[in-house]
Amino acid sequence: MGFTFRTKLLASHIGLVAAVVLIVILELNRSLGADLGGQLDQRLEQQARGAAQWIGEGRRHPGKLAARLALVVSADVTIFDRDGNVLGDSTQAAAGASASASAQPTVTSSMPAAASSIDTPEVTAAHRGDVGHATRLLAGSEDEMHFVAVPAADGMVLRIAAPLSDINATLRSMRRRLLFASAIAIIAALALGFFASRLASRPLRDMTESAKRIAQGDYDIRPAATSPDEFGVLAESLASLAAQLKARIGDLTAERDRLSAILAGMVEGVLVLGADGRVVLANPAAAQIVGDTGAPLIGKALADAVKPMALRDFIAAGAKSAEVRESEIETSGRSIAIYVRPLARAAGGGMVTVLRDMTGLRRLMTMRRDFVANVSHELRTPVTAIQGYAETLLGGSADAATSRQFLEIIHRQARRIGALVEDLLELSELEARAPEQAVREAVDVGAIAEHVAQTVRERAKQSETTVRLDIDGHVVALGDPSGLEQVVQNLVDNAIKYGNPGGHVVIRGSREGARVRLSVVDDGPGIEARHLPRLFERFYRVDAGRSRDRGGTGLGLAIVKHIVEAMGGDVHVESDVGKGSRFVVEVPANGAS
Ligand code: ADP
Repeated sequence: MGFTFRTKLLASHIGLVAAVVLIVILELNRSLGADLGGQLDQRLEQQARGAAQWIGEGRRHPGKLAARLALVVSADVTIFDRDGNVLGDSTQAAAGASASASAQPTVTSSMPAAASSIDTPEVTAAHRGDVGHATRLLAGSEDEMHFVAVPAADGMVLRIAAPLSDINATLRSMRRRLLFASAIAIIAALALGFFASRLASRPLRDMTESAKRIAQGDYDIRPAATSPDEFGVLAESLASLAAQLKARIGDLTAERDRLSAILAGMVEGVLVLGADGRVVLANPAAAQIVGDTGAPLIGKALADAVKPMALRDFIAAGAKSAEVRESEIETSGRSIAIYVRPLARAAGGGMVTVLRDMTGLRRLMTMRRDFVANVSHELRTPVTAIQGYAETLLGGSADAATSRQFLEIIHRQARRIGALVEDLLELSELEARAPEQAVREAVDVGAIAEHVAQTVRERAKQSETTVRLDIDGHVVALGDPSGLEQVVQNLVDNAIKYGNPGGHVVIRGSREGARVRLSVVDDGPGIEARHLPRLFERFYRVDAGRSRDRGGTGLGLAIVKHIVEAMGGDVHVESDVGKGSRFVVEVPANGAS
């Protein structure tokens, strides 16, 4: 991971302090040494100059004078003649005469014997008339000595020597204190740097935390540092970036949701394939049309996504052409309208396929066509008959009896057309009625059954059929009274019409939980099982000739089914050939059971 910002900040802080401390130590060490040395040198020179005044020819004994002077200036004093020979030396004199001078540092081994010539740089310089300075380590001693030599009267030279040990001791203790102070300074810098770097890096840490949260999709970032410095500006920029991201992502999400809602609500299937031939978008309608399981199609290859081969081939062919292609394809009993359009390269390539299941529409169209054909067919026979007999009558060749017979046929056929038109009108009215217009009121089933029985009494008498009621108490349904009466009427009509002469018809009514069951039972010839599923279709007849003979239109049961379903009920038929039929209607009951 490398060093953190904080570590780097701390390291640079301490590095800076250490460098400053080092420079200060070196400089102080150097200048202190120079200053102390300079002061000693200056003092020795002043003392030497002062002492040199005392030297004169014939004035005292140079050896003693040197000892005296040494006492006055508290330093070693040596007097040289013009040839560099030692005339007097305080250390020598002290050694021999006075022990009081022993308090001063004594330099013996380096001192040659009295009267011996000495050629040292400081003495040489003084002989030349200058002030000579020199610092030397004396043999056999740890201490350095500083010498200052000045010219005196008669070419003599006076030299004062003092040890540097004091200065060195001062310097050493100074250095120790400096080192100690530096150590403290560095420790203080470390502590201060620790807190300062912590303080300085906190906004960064906060911002890193914020950035991590943004990356995880949490955009509710408040600027942690509100200081007016660069960190504050950066933190605010980060917060505003998060706010903008949130708004932008919100817009995009809303857009996407809107698009998905539109796609999900579409009847048409939309299937988008990417340039690589994989599904990038598919709405539920598309999945229903092309897939055989409910599994999502996104990411699947065309062959896995689109199961019906004919559709798959059409889409694959569309991928190769740059044209829009459309067709209607019959596949596994369904009729699918398909439209394939290549997508522009700028949009990423691929293609969009729009699919629509036309099966229902096609079936409806077929039904309409069949219906029109059926109606025409039903009308053609009576119209042809009327036309033929009317023409014969108009010819005027028929006698009175034949004319009457013809007129009766014309009348019967006209009534047949009338009945057909009535039933057709009834059906179209039922179809046009909106579900919310359905009448929902309490219907006394017993009263209805009784009314129907009365209506059919004459017809029943003609075929010697008995109509009996079997109503289980006071049965009340919820629905349309006139509709329910028509249902019972049609069923009882059929039972008499298709029943055997002298047969029995029973109208039963009972309450079954939340429903009312109404059945019309006869003991007629019954209906073969193969006809039962289609019995309620328009114009479906078991025996067309017989139906027509009896004035049937083939629409009676279709009307029954329509009315019952509009009331929220259903109807079915049970039949045993040779034993009779039972038509059962179930509609909602009125009130709680
Ligand atoms: P239709 O006008 O021909 O009676 P329906 O729709 O009422 O038309 O009935 C359809 C066909 O169902 C009839 O043609 C008849 O063959 C048969 N059917 C209806 N009711 C009965 C019944 N009770 N017994 C035997 N067959 C019946």
